[in-house]
Amino acid sequence: MYTSGVASASPTTLDQYDVVVCGGGPTGTMAAVSAARNGAKTLVIERYGFPGGSSTAAMVHPWLSFHNKHGEQVLAGLGQELVDRLQAIGGAIGHVRDSIGFVYSLTPFDPDLTKQVMLRMLVESGADLMLHTFITDVQTTNGIVTAVRVVNKSGSQLIPAKFFIDATGDADIAMRAGAPMQEQRKDGQLITQPLTMNFRLSGVQWEPIRRYILDNPDEFHHETMFHELKRGEPLTAVSGYFSEWRKVNEKLNVPRDRLLFFSGVRPDECYVNTSRVTQLDGADAFDLTAAEIEGRRQVTAIADWMKGNIAGFEDSYISMIPTQIGVRETRRILGDYVINQNDVVNGSKFEDAIARSAYPVDIHAPTGAGLITSEAPDDYYEIPFRCLLLQGLDNVIVAGRCISATHEGHASTRLTPTCFAMGQAAGLAAAQCASKNLLPRDIKGSQLRSKLREQGAVL
Ligand SMILES: Cc1cc2nc3c(=O)[nH]c(=O)nc-3n(C[C@H](O)[C@H](O)[C@H](O)COP(=O)(O)OP(=O)(O)OC[C@H]3O[C@@H](n4cnc5c(N)ncnc54)[C@H](O)[C@@H]3O)c2cc1C
Repeated sequence: MYTSGVASASPTTLDQYDVVVCGGGPTGTMAAVSAARNGAKTLVIERYGFPGGSSTAAMVHPWLSFHNKHGEQVLAGLGQELVDRLQAIGGAIGHVRDSIGFVYSLTPFDPDLTKQVMLRMLVESGADLMLHTFITDVQTTNGIVTAVRVVNKSGSQLIPAKFFIDATGDADIAMRAGAPMQEQRKDGQLITQPLTMNFRLSGVQWEPIRRYILDNPDEFHHETMFHELKRGEPLTAVSGYFSEWRKVNEKLNVPRDRLLFFSGVRPDECYVNTSRVTQLDGADAFDLTAAEIEGRRQVTAIADWMKGNIAGFEDSYISMIPTQIGVRETRRILGDYVINQNDVVNGSKFEDAIARSAYPVDIHAPTGAGLITSEAPDDYYEIPFRCLLLQGLDNVIVAGRCISATHEGHASTRLTPTCFAMGQAAGLAAAQCASKNLLPRDIKGSQLRSKLREQGAVL
């Protein structure tokens, strides 16, 4: 399938890396593809045997959202290329309307085919891959990370590079290098969002679900697009069954106020995003272990209840449970700018913007059962490059869900299409630094923007 070889990172090749991308999730994959396509000798290090992180290992589905509330596309670039390439092999159906009415569009995708396409994009870009490898530590000198330490079946080794992109989602590189982080606790309680174990059901019939929604509108999210559903528009997302859920949840014991699920790429598929594990730290091994156990308990309980009690699910069966529980929020760096809720809601624009988003603040309550959401910006807001730059570390760019944002700001910037765009920008910036012998802070935002635009980004 692949023609080019995957480097075995021997000591002789290691010295040659301009850019090491730490983590091969949605952000890291796009960062590595972007850095390599822009001429940097690039290595991506990933703990699993495949790329995609939350989208594949945690089956976080669908991608939300490439559009603003008026239907204008505000995110494209490598993220759109991934959607197009998936669509060409039956792994996506493009952007479809969100039946819940929370956002304009959502983008269903197949997690396994996403691994294939991401891997192909990485290999074609010329980036080297080191899979099945965990980054455990960093080596620093005078505010510069000189190498990361990895552990894998070959043993433990140092991987040096000129520039590092921290796309670990948990800011592992920044934290181990001693960079300042934002508070994760208030009055002893975690203020980070809960974890969720998604799962996929197959054998689902959507027409009985549609009929039930139209017959019981009060039982569903108030923005649900009832008129469109009446007209026969596709049912892509469902949020509600409030009374039924309240009754059964005394037994299921899930800290959640509703059932939430999405249609998939195939007509009988449904991705359920309903389990919830609160007050556990997704960057702590014992907490994560407890979350896996509880998340998997909830998956079985929810799937059994849906099959036995919800019209349309009579013949359903679990066809996929992810490799790991989904981690929404852990560490957030303290960067040169901290993007916040006002920036999101008011649609702030910045001279050094490297990505756009129009997604509202969407917080799964850290302690309760509900959701805390904001208005979406009228057009879009922008993420400044400064949110990716760490205080006290000069050659590391942080991208993805751990950028410099407040808890509320992060609740919008964390969405996957936005992470794709941040990854693309981080990769280009690192490649430019390597070729021009600059530090990330020396790069002009306007130059980055025009190059990103040339490479398909909406900016
Ligand atoms: C339950 C849940 C529901 C969500 N719902 C949606 C949704 O509906 N739509 C949407 O668009 N977004 C949603 N999100 C948000 C979105 O999935 C993530 O915020 C986003 O994909 C993060 O991408 P990332 O690349 O920054 O991080 P991640 O996806 O976490 O990727 C990090 C990568 O780094 C690797 N890694 C981490 N540490 C190390 C290490 N030390 N060494 C080596 N490798 C390492 C990981 O294995 C992973 O591949 C949801 C998230 C969760 C958890």
